[in-house]
Amino acid sequence: KGAKVLVIGGGYGGATAAKYVRKFSNYTADVTLIEPNQNFISCPLSNLVIGGSQKLEDITISYEGLRKNHGVNLVRDSVASIDVAKKQVRLAGGASLFYDRLIVSPGIDLTYDKLPGMLVPNAQNEVLHAWKAGEQTVGLRKQLESMKDGGVFAISIPLAPYRCPPGPYERACQVAEYFQKSKPKSKVLILDANDDVTSKPGLFKLAWSRRYEGKVEYRPKHQLTDVDVKGKTLKFEFNDDVKADVLNVLPPMRAGAIAVKTGLANMNGRWCEVDFLTFESKVAPNVHVLGDSIQIAPGMPKSGHMANQHGKTCAAAVVAILSGADVNQLPVYNNTCYSFVSSQDVVHVASVHQYDAAKKTMVTVPGSGGVSAAANPLEGEYAKAWARNIWADMLV
Ligand code: FAD
Repeated sequence: KGAKVLVIGGGYGGATAAKYVRKFSNYTADVTLIEPNQNFISCPLSNLVIGGSQKLEDITISYEGLRKNHGVNLVRDSVASIDVAKKQVRLAGGASLFYDRLIVSPGIDLTYDKLPGMLVPNAQNEVLHAWKAGEQTVGLRKQLESMKDGGVFAISIPLAPYRCPPGPYERACQVAEYFQKSKPKSKVLILDANDDVTSKPGLFKLAWSRRYEGKVEYRPKHQLTDVDVKGKTLKFEFNDDVKADVLNVLPPMRAGAIAVKTGLANMNGRWCEVDFLTFESKVAPNVHVLGDSIQIAPGMPKSGHMANQHGKTCAAAVVAILSGADVNQLPVYNNTCYSFVSSQDVVHVASVHQYDAAKKTMVTVPGSGGVSAAANPLEGEYAKAWARNIWADMLV
C-alpha cells in the first residue's frame, strides 16, 4: 500500500486535494477523506436559495464520485483531535487513524464570544448566519418567507478578513429582489463594520440605488457589539440600536475549530500560517492547511475558487514530498468571484496571484483582473457554469 494521506474536510480545499493526491500519485497514495456531512453543499450559489430562485438540492452533490471514480476512502465522521507528534488523528466516533501527511481544510469557525446575547441558550438557532450552506440556508429562507410585508431584514457584516468578501452584499441583493417581487413594502438594511463595501463597491451600490431603489440602505462603520435576540435588536459600538424583523448576523470568523484547537492557527489564534509552495503549516511538520483557514497574502480572497487551487498546489507538493522529489512549482492562481445582483444578472471581480520567490509569498499580478462594466445575464450563465465546472473538478 502507498503512503497514507488523510484529508480533514470535504469542502472546496479538502475534496480537491483528496482527488488530486490520488491523480498526481498515479493512484498509488492511500487517501482518506474525513467529513461529517453525507453530501457536499455549496456556499457559492447558496444566496440564490435564500433569494428563492434555487433549491438546496440544486447546490448539493454526492461525495460518492470521489470513491467510485478516484478510489478515495470516505469516512463519515469529524476529527476530534490531532496528535502531531504521533502523526495520528482521533475521530469523534472514537477510532484513531495514522498518517504520513495530513491535509487540513476545515473552513471557518464563527466566533460569538464578543457577542454575549448570542451565547444565551437557543440564540444561535434564532439569529442565523447561513454562512455554512445547509440547514441554516433553508432556515433563513423560511424566516424571510414568514416575515410580514413591511418588515425589515438586517444583515450585520464583520470586519474583513472573512469568508467570501462579496457574499454579504450579494445576499442583500437576493433578499431585495425577493422583497421587490413578493413583499414590496419591506426593506433591507446592511450594517457593515467596514469603512466601505469590501468588494465591487460601485456595482453593488448601483444595484441598491437603481434596481432596488428605496429598498436597500447601506450603513458603513457599524461595529456590532451585542445582539438582543428576543428584542430582535442589534447593538453597535458608536451607532444607534437597530431593531429588525429578521436578523442575519455574520460574526467574526477564524480558522475551522479543529485547526484552532490543534494550535495550527498561529496568527493571533485566528488564521494558520503556511508555506505557499507546499501549504505545509509553519508550526506543525507533516501537516498542510488549505482554504479559508489560512493566513492569506494581501489581495488573496477567502474564496472557493482559491481553495480549489490551494488543493492542487498542496496535492502536487505532498506527492513530491512523499516520493522524495523536490517541490518544483511556482504557483499562479486566478480568482473570479461572481455575484448575483438578481436571480439573472451577475457581476464579477477577477484577479491573478503569483508566487514571489524573493518575498516567499503570493503577490497580486499588477494590472491583472478587474470588474464587470455592468450587471448582465450572460455573466449569470458564466457564474452557473463556473459552479458546475468547479464541482466536477472537486467531486466527480
Ligand atoms: P469549506 O468549503 O467550508 O469546507 C470545510 C469542510 O470541512 C466542511 O465540509 C466541514 O464539514 C468540514 N469540517 C470542518 N471541521 C471538520 C472536522 N473537525 N472533521 C472533519 N471535517 C470537518 N467562493 C467563491 O469562490 N465563489 C463564490 O461565488 C462564493 N460565494 C459564496 C457565497 C456565500 C454565501 C458563502 C458563505 C461563501 C461563498 N464563497 C464563494 C466562499 C467559499 O464557500 C469558501 O471560500 C470555501 O468554501 C472555502 O473552502 P474550504 O475548503 O476552506 O472550506
